[in-house]
Amino acid sequence: MVGFENAKKSDNGSNNKNPLSEAVINLDQGDPKVFEEYWRKMGDKCTVEIKGWEMMSYFSDLKNLCWYVLPELDQAIRGIHAAVGNATTEGRYIVVGNGSTQLCQAAIHSLASLHSSHPVSVVAASPFYSTYSEETSYQRSEIYRWEGDAMSFDKEGPYIELVTSPNNPDGTIREQVVKKPDGNAIYDFAYYWPHYTPITHSPDHDVMLFTFSKITGHAGSRIGWAIVKDKEVAKKMVYYLLLNSIGVSKESQIRAAKILNVMKETCQSETESVFEFGRDKLKKRWEMLREVVDQTHIFSLPSYPEAFCNFFQKPIQTYPGFAWLGWNEESDLASLFRNQKVLTRPGSMCGSDNKYVRVSLFSDDAVFSVFLQRLASITTDSIH
Ligand code: PMP
Repeated sequence: MVGFENAKKSDNGSNNKNPLSEAVINLDQGDPKVFEEYWRKMGDKCTVEIKGWEMMSYFSDLKNLCWYVLPELDQAIRGIHAAVGNATTEGRYIVVGNGSTQLCQAAIHSLASLHSSHPVSVVAASPFYSTYSEETSYQRSEIYRWEGDAMSFDKEGPYIELVTSPNNPDGTIREQVVKKPDGNAIYDFAYYWPHYTPITHSPDHDVMLFTFSKITGHAGSRIGWAIVKDKEVAKKMVYYLLLNSIGVSKESQIRAAKILNVMKETCQSETESVFEFGRDKLKKRWEMLREVVDQTHIFSLPSYPEAFCNFFQKPIQTYPGFAWLGWNEESDLASLFRNQKVLTRPGSMCGSDNKYVRVSLFSDDAVFSVFLQRLASITTDSIH
């Protein structure tokens, strides 16, 4: 009952009145503020100093196919995957981008350009990460076109399926659903890290995307990477990056390399591992959230199977960074939350129903606690 009782506590008359109690809270975006507490505790361990004359060139390593990537970042990326066991990098190309958002576009463009018939259909199983439909449609490309839900996809011709596992928004483990010839898959593994989900195997797909934003919380550094099997695809992605942004900021790369190396050094420590911190934080949030949801009798949440985690060497639960909250009413759940001054992502943006919303659990503690209070205050009477 801890979560519910805490959540129900009124702000009026309470000694610790939350300054956010009247504010609109934004749980639409997955801004990973939850990690700030951890990095503050790490103090100066990840501080980097860059002199005025350092890293001025566009180029980094002309021997690397991805010529703008700093060797220390390439090594740090391979190092953290080896330590966690969540992706095969041996003999693979690492293509670094300005967040995995840019790399997703680079990968779609590159794969689509390899097909002889256009436009190539781009699909993802609903509910999908809403940015996929936005970024794919926004480009108005002649060589690919957004075709929506992979589950109902029945067009002839080449296609690219975006597979997010664990999935954003609903946290489920995903595999490719379209099984036709002439297709490619891009695996988005933004959340395949031990704080969110059991690491059950080391995937080795043709194109896999990872983002620094959701491992460490450093979304503002705008660093992501793709692990790519095929040299031609990797080359085309690097060419896309050349035309789009002439590479990636060296300042961001050096910071990411430093942080990834510290993560690797501390990842087995019970007190210092970011995975222990993230897992503990999300576990507590999910427990509190489930308690409030159970008490309201209005909302529902997905449940997740336990699985053996090779990284933690024990069976563990999934604790996604987003809650896929539903209800049984026919009306729009996002507007109910808007009335409570809580911004959420409507299910329809994820190719699903507006009976669902995606709620970010990445906020800081204060915002999360206001969200629970507002959720707990919704009663059957108040919605009718
Ligand atoms: N893929 C998924 C599934 C995500 O949730 C996000 C972040 N919200 C991204 C990609 C983009 O991450 P980045 O910050 O690296 O662009």
